[in-house]
Order: sequence, then structure tokens, then C-alpha cells
Amino acid sequence: MVLPDRFLSGEAIFFFDGNEVVKQMLYSEFEAVLDGVVGIPEFSGRHYKAAYIVIESVLNAHTIVLFEVTFDKKGQVPDSWNIPLRKLAKEGVNGPDFGGGTINIMTRRSCTDSYYKPMLWEPHSKQKGCLRRIYDLVKENRLGLYKGESQGRRGSARYDNTPLRDFHADGAELVSDQHKNSVENIQSMLSHKYEKKIVSLKDEHQNAITDLEQQHREQIEIVSDKYRAKFERELDWAREEFTGELDVKQLELHYSQENEKQLQQEVERAEASISDAQEQFLSQLMKAGIELTVSHIGSGTYNLESHQVKEYLENSTRFWAARQGVTEIHYETWYNYQQNPVCQMGESTGCLCGVKLERTNCAADFVMGESDLCAKHRRAKN
Ligand SMILES: [Zn+2]
Repeated sequence: MVLPDRFLSGEAIFFFDGNEVVKQMLYSEFEAVLDGVVGIPEFSGRHYKAAYIVIESVLNAHTIVLFEVTFDKKGQVPDSWNIPLRKLAKEGVNGPDFGGGTINIMTRRSCTDSYYKPMLWEPHSKQKGCLRRIYDLVKENRLGLYKGESQGRRGSARYDNTPLRDFHADGAELVSDQHKNSVENIQSMLSHKYEKKIVSLKDEHQNAITDLEQQHREQIEIVSDKYRAKFERELDWAREEFTGELDVKQLELHYSQENEKQLQQEVERAEASISDAQEQFLSQLMKAGIELTVSHIGSGTYNLESHQVKEYLENSTRFWAARQGVTEIHYETWYNYQQNPVCQMGESTGCLCGVKLERTNCAADFVMGESDLCAKHRRAKN
């Protein structure tokens, strides 16, 4: 009997650990694993006995191919794995009937192709129940396959040569649901896988940044310490050099000051000596009858003693002021007045009174602001 396409619900892959089915997936999902799109991380590095199952729309296991598969460290199936499950399914032989009709099976014993035979497995005595287990789990429909109306019990069935994915118009809705489920499952698997990958990459990236920052900080500290030590050494050297130079300069300054003091003393001694010599010379002149007579208009003449010559030469005005018993400024004002005895009122404003006055012959008799004013302005002032 040939099973029409419209009675097909889908294809599934079951994985066994002993007698227990540990994982179920749609065949389309298994294809994604075969294509290397996704892996099954929990299967990494393990060998599994598995079953490829063609399922009728009434959720009967129609054909079962028992095959073996090994997963690599990434949970993926190596490229060398190339069992043509659909082809082998078409070559299945009559197997047990658990109530839904005879199931086609393809096992190591029933396989006539010597190349593929070793890649299949045969349930031994303890695993005889595995086909029943598959039949029951298909009924449970954990994969959410489309469930059509019951077609009743069928007899011996054979799967025709039509490709399983090419469902016709009557099965369009069925195909659509199945496809949707597959896409959702694959999306879920991909999402799960890449979310973990993204989180892992983020962690790696953050760890790398943290490591780099730490290395960077350590390098900065090393370089900083190195340059700080170098700077402190150079500062010490500079300080020592400066201190040494300062000591030398201070010593030189001390010697220079001592030298200057000695020179100053020598100059003073020389000046004193010259002064003594001059005085002695003048003394000798005077003893010889030579007189040194000085005169100042209004102050008359004066014979200088030898010791007075120096004082006179230094400041004659001060000398004459002292002779007359007045201050130097007083003497100077009186002296200027003697040269032009006129009323000084208005002198500072440029409107000098200028009335002719009498001279005051003695500086001590001259009263500033009185002796140099005319009677009119003297009265006005008082
Ligand atoms: Zn006047």
C-alpha cells in the first residue's frame, strides 16, 4: 500500500540514551545541525543511537530508520556523516504493528547496502521496546505536528517515492504549520545559541578591556616610578651641585668683603696720611710767614689756620655761616639779599615789589621776611 502525501504529518529525529529517548527534534532542525548552522552543545563529543521517523497525519509512526551519529566537540555532526535517511526509509521492510498498522523499518539487519549497513543499528534484546517507545512518543506529539483526521487502521504500508517536503494542495495548511514550527524551533535554537555567544563575547571583550586597563595602569605606574626616581636623583645631584657652588660663592664673597674692608682701610689710611701731609705742609708755610687769607663779600676777610683749610675747601658757605653764628640757609639768603637789596614781596609770583632798601651788614642782624621787605609791605604783613 502506498501512503498518499496528504496523509503525512512530518518527519522527526529521536535520540536514545539506552532505552530512553533523550531528545526529539523535527527533521528540518536536524538538517540545520547537519548544515552546521547550529549545534547541540549537550551532545558534544558523544555518540548516539537515533531514529528517523516518517509520521502520518494521524500521528502514526509510518517508517522508522535506526541510524547512528557522532557529534564533535562543538555539538555538530562532522561533514563525513552522509546517511541518506529518506532514501533508506523508502527501502524499509515490514516491521511490528502497534495498533496503527504495520510500521516500515530500516535497521542494520534489513539494510541491503553494505556501505550504509554499519552506520545503522539493530535493537538487541533489551532494546526491543525502543520501536514501541517511538510509536508511543509519536502519539504524544511533543513536537506539535499537525494532527489530521483518523484514516482508520491500515494494512501493510509502503512509503512512495515522492519527496517528503513536497506536500500537495490538500496538505498546504499542514505544510505551512509544520514549516512555521520548524522555523520557530530553528529561530529559538539560533537565538539561544547566539545570545549565549553574544554574552560570551561581551564577557571576553569586557575581560580583555579590564586586562588592558590593568596592564596600562601597571605600565603607567612603572614608567611613573622610573621617572620619579630619575627626577629625584637629578634633583639631589642639582641640589648638591648648587649647595657646593653656593658654598664656594659664599666663601668668595667673604674673601671679597674682607678684601674690600682692607682696601677701604688702606684708602682711609692713605687719605689720613695725605691730609696729615697737607696740614704739615700748610703748617710749614705758615711758620714761614705765609698767610692764607680768604674773603667773602659782606663778610670781610679771614686768615685760615692750617687745620681749617680742608673745612673751608669742602664748603665755604657753611664756613662763613659758622663765622657769623647763623645757619647755612640764613647766611645764603642774607648773602643773596646783599647783592641786590630790594623788597622781596611778590618775588615768588613774578610781581616783585623791588623797592630799594638798606643793606644789613651783619648776617646775624638780618631777619628773613622782615629785613628784606619795604616799610609798606612790612606793615601789611604785621
Ligand atoms: Zn615793598
